[in-house]
Amino acid sequence: MNMNHSVDHVLTLLLPQMGKPLVFDTTLEINLKNLVSNLNYFKSLLKPDTKIMAMVKAFSYGLGTYDVAKLLEENNVDYLGVANTYEGIELRKAGIELPIMIMKPEVDSFDLVFEYQLTPTIFSFHALQKLIEACDKNTTTAISIKVDTGMHRIGFDVDEVPALISELKKHPHLKIESVFSHLAASDEKQHETFTIQQIDQFKSIAASICNSFDYAIDKHILNSNGIINFNDAQMEMVRLGIGLYGVSSDHESQKQLKSASTLKSKIAQIKHIKQGDTIGYSRAGVAQQDISIATIPVGYADGLSRKLGNGNWSMIINGTKAPIIGNVCMDMVMIDVTHINCKEGDSAFIFSDENSITEMAKCIGTIPYEILTSYSPRVRRVFKS
Ligand SMILES: *Cc1c(COP(=O)(O)O)cnc(C)c1O
Repeated sequence: MNMNHSVDHVLTLLLPQMGKPLVFDTTLEINLKNLVSNLNYFKSLLKPDTKIMAMVKAFSYGLGTYDVAKLLEENNVDYLGVANTYEGIELRKAGIELPIMIMKPEVDSFDLVFEYQLTPTIFSFHALQKLIEACDKNTTTAISIKVDTGMHRIGFDVDEVPALISELKKHPHLKIESVFSHLAASDEKQHETFTIQQIDQFKSIAASICNSFDYAIDKHILNSNGIINFNDAQMEMVRLGIGLYGVSSDHESQKQLKSASTLKSKIAQIKHIKQGDTIGYSRAGVAQQDISIATIPVGYADGLSRKLGNGNWSMIINGTKAPIIGNVCMDMVMIDVTHINCKEGDSAFIFSDENSITEMAKCIGTIPYEILTSYSPRVRRVFKS
């Protein structure tokens, strides 16, 4: 894999000058085989001709922009999806040739969208106006139309659609590649009725748009958990995100998925602490008896939430859980290894199959998406094929 394209912007600058490989203690290991296995699992849930847009926004959910996108390209996904124009440009500069859809393009830089052959999402009349001003009337410009069916984030409202259609008809150089909407709660059973309403409303809006133009337009509404829970609504395409990276809120599917990333570090030092001594900032960790602790070089600046401190999270050392003792520091954290046979240099698994990001998310009141995308550029991404 080409290291120049990995996500750690800071450290890649150093690499060419070092002359020898750098060894990092703390790494986010990305298992590309598992990622492909997850892709294949979702393929098995889809009809053979349903297209897949793989979501690689936010550095492919924190794992690494280029390497993941390249892998997906090699595995024949149909589209890539990113959040903004600059994420799309990065992929093009790295040599990605797949169609790339921008969910929320910067409306003041449509020129770049065209220059890098990205497909913009048009979500409002303001955005449409900006696009019309920016594009060349003599060439065909592919666009995607976002409609709001209840998420209430971005997209055309239902009652704006007739005006949208007549505006688009005045600009035949704009070619609608797809029309899509986003589900607000595809993973929550208690909102099933709402989700079905969203899907039904989308079908009728999409039909009115599709029937107004004499070419084929792809329709899509399902995200990862939508594919699992509302499979009938796969239409021409689905937008697969978190599932690729190994996470599902559905118990059965979770069993089929493999974690695409593991956060690892190494024991920097082991100390033997006397009963009554305290550990770390604010003296928050207290040795209730004589204990052994290990210092691990990962902290909140790496993305390890400070909320995980003081026993709220455990790392895995030689197969055994070692709870964090005291507060998480910026660059380091201490764990209790009294009960574990270990030595300096041994591996510490911050999250892995045994202590998953789903559990970590629950532990601090968030969702796996936030955990994955929070690991900072300082954490070296290592790709294993
Ligand atoms: C991020 C995103 C997705 C993917 O969602 P997952 O739950 O990660 O599968 C799909 N559609 C849109 C519009 C998104 O922003």
